[in-house]
Amino acid sequence: MKNRWEDKSAKETINKYSFVHEDIALRVYTSRLIGSESSLVLHGGGNTSVKTRVKNKFSEEIDVLYVKGSGWDLDTLEPQGLPGVRLSQLLKLRDLDFLSDEDMVNEQRINLLDASSPNPSVETLLHAFLPHKFIDHSHADAILVIANQIFSEKICKEIYKEKIAIVPYIMPGFELAKSAAEIFEQNTNVEGLLLINHGLFTFGGTAKESYDRHIEIVTMAEEYIADKKAKPLTKKKFSDYEHKKNEMFRTLSPILRGLYQKKSGKSWIINLRESVIAEEFASSQEVVTWSQIGTATPDHVIRTKQKPLLLDLKEWSNTHHLKREVSSSLEKYCKDYHTYFITNKKSKGVDKQELDQLPRVLLVNGLGLITISKSVKEANIAADIYEHTIDIIQKSFVLGDYSPLNSADLFDMEYWSLEQAKLGKSKEPPLHGKVTYISGAGSGIGLATAKLFAEQGSNLFLVDISQKKLDIATEEISKKFNIGIASKKINVEDEQGVKDSFEEMLNCFGGLDILISNAGNAVEGKIGQVDTNILRKSFELNFFAHQILSSLAVKIFLNQESGGVLLFNASKAAFNPGKDFGPYAIPKAAVVALAKQYALDYGEFGIRSNAINADRIRTGLFSDEVIDKRAKARGLSSKNYFKSNLLQQEVYDTDVAKGFLNLALAEKTTGSIITIDGGNISASPR
Ligand code: ZN
Repeated sequence: MKNRWEDKSAKETINKYSFVHEDIALRVYTSRLIGSESSLVLHGGGNTSVKTRVKNKFSEEIDVLYVKGSGWDLDTLEPQGLPGVRLSQLLKLRDLDFLSDEDMVNEQRINLLDASSPNPSVETLLHAFLPHKFIDHSHADAILVIANQIFSEKICKEIYKEKIAIVPYIMPGFELAKSAAEIFEQNTNVEGLLLINHGLFTFGGTAKESYDRHIEIVTMAEEYIADKKAKPLTKKKFSDYEHKKNEMFRTLSPILRGLYQKKSGKSWIINLRESVIAEEFASSQEVVTWSQIGTATPDHVIRTKQKPLLLDLKEWSNTHHLKREVSSSLEKYCKDYHTYFITNKKSKGVDKQELDQLPRVLLVNGLGLITISKSVKEANIAADIYEHTIDIIQKSFVLGDYSPLNSADLFDMEYWSLEQAKLGKSKEPPLHGKVTYISGAGSGIGLATAKLFAEQGSNLFLVDISQKKLDIATEEISKKFNIGIASKKINVEDEQGVKDSFEEMLNCFGGLDILISNAGNAVEGKIGQVDTNILRKSFELNFFAHQILSSLAVKIFLNQESGGVLLFNASKAAFNPGKDFGPYAIPKAAVVALAKQYALDYGEFGIRSNAINADRIRTGLFSDEVIDKRAKARGLSSKNYFKSNLLQQEVYDTDVAKGFLNLALAEKTTGSIITIDGGNISASPR
């Protein structure tokens, strides 16, 4: 493993963080070096600390431990992610015989220098009880290969001699901290501690010394493993090797999404990890046993659960059979999980609430690694973790065996309140986990709706004819909201283009919940005189595009079997056509009929279909010239045109967006057209 320390960068970091002590700046620097290496730590894994002296408000010098705060990742650590805790108070705790987790967290919090700091890491006491100035902790892949062997100790001696000490597995917290300190004190010359089934701690007098030792110890493990000969995996039989992987995924994912929704009442995101190694592992005979042993480090259990679900599916082409197969495999997994929960709860005599039983990682023969989580971010985290787990498992069997933490100990970790707290239990917005497809999303009503739906937690797939507008929209929304967002430039009149966009959407999110069929264009002409081709062309965009989009959406909804929402942007022209505006009004009237027809034909499947009847929204659809014309047609000045409604207020695209949101959330409303036009009695549906 490459040692990434550079004197120049270290100095730059000290200058950048000149507002904090140099020790803290260097602590940030090497924490980031460790965090940037995915084979050392992943997503919030690992922690680091530094001990230093600061003056308190009374100008008294006190010893302070700065340790990584909960909720911070090492690769993006900032000084405020290192809460400072009074060291003398932490050291006093070592004299206690017992300290509960709750008391430990409390002691750490009441001794913070800054009351607004995040919670110090659950491994804070281990950092405190060791005497070194700098301490680095990772869950390095190569270390886990060695730490998860039955003969770990023997292998460690062979590689490291007296360089590191071994700490048998104890769950993080007070007891582990005490035991690690005692083991260190038996041989204070060691440069680090290898924690069985867990990871590596190194320490030193400077940031560089502790980091150098960390990289060196990991590299020694890597070299030891590389010397052993790898065994090739045995390929399982797969009936359809000529298959198209993405097509399989797109058939499978809506079915999975529907089953998960049914079991949990929540919406899920499904991700296929493009990885040859994962596909080979999922399609091997070894996967049957190797994948079911346990997580590489206990921390991972909250992201991946203890075991992945294995799928070896016979039928791909017949959705009905596929559904049955997937459903019964999932049922079995959930039943086994329940048994694991009940057995451990009883034997430990603890009072715990069962978490959801659904697997987060799926290994599918012929397809590869699929992860399922409540958000795109979490699905990616689970996939990153499992990709590394595959590597660790395979290398473990090269050395000997893979013997990670047993299921009873893993239960303690999974149901540990301090571990669950890492997932954050903040209230989810109403569209959390949903997927919304919006046409004409680059500007006006489409864009306003995209922003509002993102604010409400929905993931977005945006389409528009302008790539530039999509790029701007995507950048703006993803900066502001923590959701999954993808986009594609298409012309909604092009049926193949629309189909391609739906495929891409499924590849990104695995399903769909809400379609906002919004794209349209105002076309003028006197009916009876206007060229039929103009009328036909308007129908292509203002009617058929809506129909193509909704038919594809409904197909996914039916496979998910968990309802679905169609929302159309119909114009008030559907009810109150403007003079010489027939080519726009007539297809829009057909869209209202279309919305009702979908409501009628698919209501029994829980699919809702509604439309919005908006009017006089200042968007790109209406150029100044068109506005002048439309105003004239209504006998109004251009200035008054937008306010000439019952409420005498201009209606904005954001008002229409709110209308779409209300309809998306109105669970008992279908076949309805709501009016968002400030009040126009002659256009109100009757
Ligand atoms: Zn750890």
